[in-house]
Amino acid sequence: MTYVDDVLNEVTALNPAQPEFIQAVTEVFHSLRPVVEREPKYQKNGILERLVVPDRIIIFRVGWLDDAGRFRVNRGYRVQFNNAIGPYKGGLRFHPSVYLGLLKFLSFEQIFKNALTTLPMGGAKGGSDFDPKGHSDNEVMRFCQSFMTELFRYIGPDTDVPAGDIGVGGREVGYLFGQYKRICNEFRAGTLTGKAFAWGGSLIRPEATGYGTTYFAQEMLATRGESLKSKICTVSGSGNVAQYLIERVTQFGGKCVTASDSSGTIHDPDGIDAEKLAFIMELKNEKRGRIGEYAAKYPKAKYLAGAKPWAIPCDCAFPCATQNEISVEDAKTLVANGCKLVSEGANMPTEPGGVDVFQAAKVLYGPAKAANAGGVAVSGLEMAQNSQHLFWSREEVDHRLREIMHSIHEVARSTAAEYGDEGNYVLGANVAGFIKVADAMIDQGIV
Ligand code: NDP
Repeated sequence: MTYVDDVLNEVTALNPAQPEFIQAVTEVFHSLRPVVEREPKYQKNGILERLVVPDRIIIFRVGWLDDAGRFRVNRGYRVQFNNAIGPYKGGLRFHPSVYLGLLKFLSFEQIFKNALTTLPMGGAKGGSDFDPKGHSDNEVMRFCQSFMTELFRYIGPDTDVPAGDIGVGGREVGYLFGQYKRICNEFRAGTLTGKAFAWGGSLIRPEATGYGTTYFAQEMLATRGESLKSKICTVSGSGNVAQYLIERVTQFGGKCVTASDSSGTIHDPDGIDAEKLAFIMELKNEKRGRIGEYAAKYPKAKYLAGAKPWAIPCDCAFPCATQNEISVEDAKTLVANGCKLVSEGANMPTEPGGVDVFQAAKVLYGPAKAANAGGVAVSGLEMAQNSQHLFWSREEVDHRLREIMHSIHEVARSTAAEYGDEGNYVLGANVAGFIKVADAMIDQGIV
């Protein structure tokens, strides 16, 4: 039994009802075997045992009144996992599937992702089993106010800085910040990111995750002398990440032929151009409708009820919806149909066996913690602008985002090469993120 196996067995035994958390730890630890064997200091300082236990978990009741005056109750969470290199940082997810294990997986991943951005941010994640879908704006506002009335005690610009995720977009961040400001009686802009530009947000933050995932894809393609030009691309999701990914990929000459939501997929062989994307944005961000309505508006597109996009032949696939949305079978189908690149906008969208399929087929595979780090990176830039009380231009933020994605690609690529597995971005990203955090933990002693 090795040190890695010992800790992994303990994590598995202690968290039997949290499969996503075990999946995330297993994937990271698998990459860490060579570094832990090479550097005895990590075992000597008990780094792995300490890394898998969150610094703090906060769980609270969120009571609110619906429009009919009935009392409703949801669970609220914040997992503050690790702040060795900076204040806790990570989004809030509002979705009925949210439970502690899901947030532990997301916050664990966030530790390494944030370390890769080159910015000083620790790892956290939070949210609620509340589903904004099907609720009026007033109900969402009352829920957000009640959620923040508890959460405000645990967050702050140098403590913990939440942002959006699934189900938490500009509307929700606005309601959360409004209540936070009211309780604190101070305009602490740096406590939440993803704010609107007029009240402390950063330009390019809404675009950042989708753009960053596109830039990471370009970086991977460039290693083979290729680009996104003329590539047929399949995309899942139709929310924040998917929308801006479609925008950027299209601007780079790629053709995005799908979008989806939890009800089904639309397939538009002509591609989703700027006008069609504007329709999706209005449908999803304002009307809060279903993606199937796209096929009614554009009759050349097909609506595939209940289906995911992965059976549609493509050169590049961009999962931008949710965890474990690419099964082993889906991965095999993608490879069989000629897919050459997967760049993950969503967090942990590929099942572990699916990752093996991509790697065996030499698909350029950009794992989430590297490929989608652009979102939190620009959140870090939003914090920097807030602390200086100024705003940077779109060009400046986009330029910094591109540089960060370039440097994440470089460090993941060179670290994988150093450990003898060139092109294995999973290994490179996990090891590079780990070394930064683990060394900081050693410097700061046993706490
Ligand atoms: P949104 O809420 O804006 O959009 C989510 C999209 O995914 C919707 O189309 C939604 O469909 C679909 N979806 C959600 N759950 C499921 C499910 N169980 N099955 C199928 N489809 C589903 O979220 P984001 O775009 O912000 O987030 C998407 C992914 O990207 C998540 O994994 C998130 O963690 C990750 N991410 C987001 C970042 C950000 O900056 N926003 C940063 C880094 C990662 P429906 O409308 O039917 O619910």
